[in-house]
Amino acid sequence: MTLENQIKQLETSAKVLDLTAEEREQHDEKIKKYLFGFLDSLDSKTAWVENGEPSKEIYDYPITEDGYDLGELLDLYERAVNSTGLQPASGGHLGYIPGGGVPLAGYGDLIAAITNKYSGIFYGNPGAIRIENHLIDWTAKQFGFKGEYGGNLTTGGSIGNLIAIVSARDAHEIKGKDYEKTVIYGSAQMHHSLNKAIRIAGLGECIYRNVPLEDNHHINTKFLLDQIQEDKENGLRPFLIIGSAGTTDTGVIDDLNELANIAEKYNCWFHIDGAYGGYFYLIDELKSKFKGIEKADSLVIDPHKGLFLPYGTGMVLVKEREHMLHSHFYLANYMQDAYKSPEEWSPADVSPELSRNFRGMRMWLPLMVHGIKPFKDAILEKYLLSKYAYKKLQELPYIEVGQEHELTVQTFRFFKPNLSEEELNKLNKQVLEELHKNGRIYISSTLIDNKFTMRFAILSFRTHMHEVDLILEMMEEQAEIFGLTEKSVKY
Ligand SMILES: *Cc1c(COP(=O)(O)O)cnc(C)c1O
Repeated sequence: MTLENQIKQLETSAKVLDLTAEEREQHDEKIKKYLFGFLDSLDSKTAWVENGEPSKEIYDYPITEDGYDLGELLDLYERAVNSTGLQPASGGHLGYIPGGGVPLAGYGDLIAAITNKYSGIFYGNPGAIRIENHLIDWTAKQFGFKGEYGGNLTTGGSIGNLIAIVSARDAHEIKGKDYEKTVIYGSAQMHHSLNKAIRIAGLGECIYRNVPLEDNHHINTKFLLDQIQEDKENGLRPFLIIGSAGTTDTGVIDDLNELANIAEKYNCWFHIDGAYGGYFYLIDELKSKFKGIEKADSLVIDPHKGLFLPYGTGMVLVKEREHMLHSHFYLANYMQDAYKSPEEWSPADVSPELSRNFRGMRMWLPLMVHGIKPFKDAILEKYLLSKYAYKKLQELPYIEVGQEHELTVQTFRFFKPNLSEEELNKLNKQVLEELHKNGRIYISSTLIDNKFTMRFAILSFRTHMHEVDLILEMMEEQAEIFGLTEKSVKY
């Protein structure tokens, strides 16, 4: 076969990758049917399926030369993926920190992927970069950032935290020889992604101080102050203070203002992890809880939590863009065309990524179509739902309610007088197992002062009063099964 013939033959085969108009129609129809069916069935679906067995069927479908029918694969997806594990799209998901997934974000992804816009550098697509910078700008301004701040739309809070820690390291010019004298201050309630970020950033050999917490799980700032003073007197170098604007475990907000003051006094970098709590700051009634947030040197917030976007959207803001550039900007020879006087800084300049999905579209589209009001209303609704649940749980005699939620994470446990702590732990573990078997509502657990404690986090945009009432109903059911109600005591 001639070279020309061979190429022509391959072309015919390769062209299958680009769908014909007819195939587009057919695929569209099937996908639409599947997704609409999914959304319409969410109310009747459980939030958790314990059995992971069906997912093994994935391996029964080897990757073949000629592929499968799309319909058949959607059926497989339904059985092996959509019917196992958590159902984060469900309003019944109140475990960990729930994700959201507003549908318009999905359309944003679809448009970004099919038009395949390049959002790594300004030169590649000025519009894509401007959409992302516009979103970063808007967010930074909400948080009172001024001047030459920088930011990046990341895949989540973990990468946001990593970018912040690396920027902090380089801004303070911490080198290997300094590690053994350099001190980082965090707390036991700090999210583990920060411990990971410290390690990945090479700062694992620095001194890490787990600053004790007050009874209400906030960082004890008095203790922090004494510790920094002592460290300085011992010739150490206080470098980084990490606070939380909404811890994952109990949802508390540290005294950000006081932490900022301490950081300023001792010339430390102040990082705030607001991956969970950050977007509550949009609500006027809640702003006072976050006093001092605008003083952060770096701040992480997760649109895939508080703004109800699908997983894969985080954001990091850094007070001085210079510090992000210092760690992440790189000009390779083969990029020289792309760097002819860019009018705006690019995601590649301030993050480890180069080619990346144009994730701005999944945030921009829902915000622009819906406007911000329904988002704010949904956030406030979640906060008030937590109040409602707190009030109702307190009325149940067999429930011991934990410290009152500051945002939307509430802890509680089943309680029976005369049981030892060990027996109470066992009881609560058993009840949680039963709740998970049922699966209508998914809540998770944690250990607070070694007590096995249940917790819910209300942050799915689909969680409404109905779901909260369902939790209460399920508590009642479990209390009866485990003989904790007055009704059951009589037997
Ligand atoms: C979820 C969370 C993180 C981690 O963010 P990912 O988006 O899961 O990577 C960090 N900090 C807090 C407080 C969180 O709730």
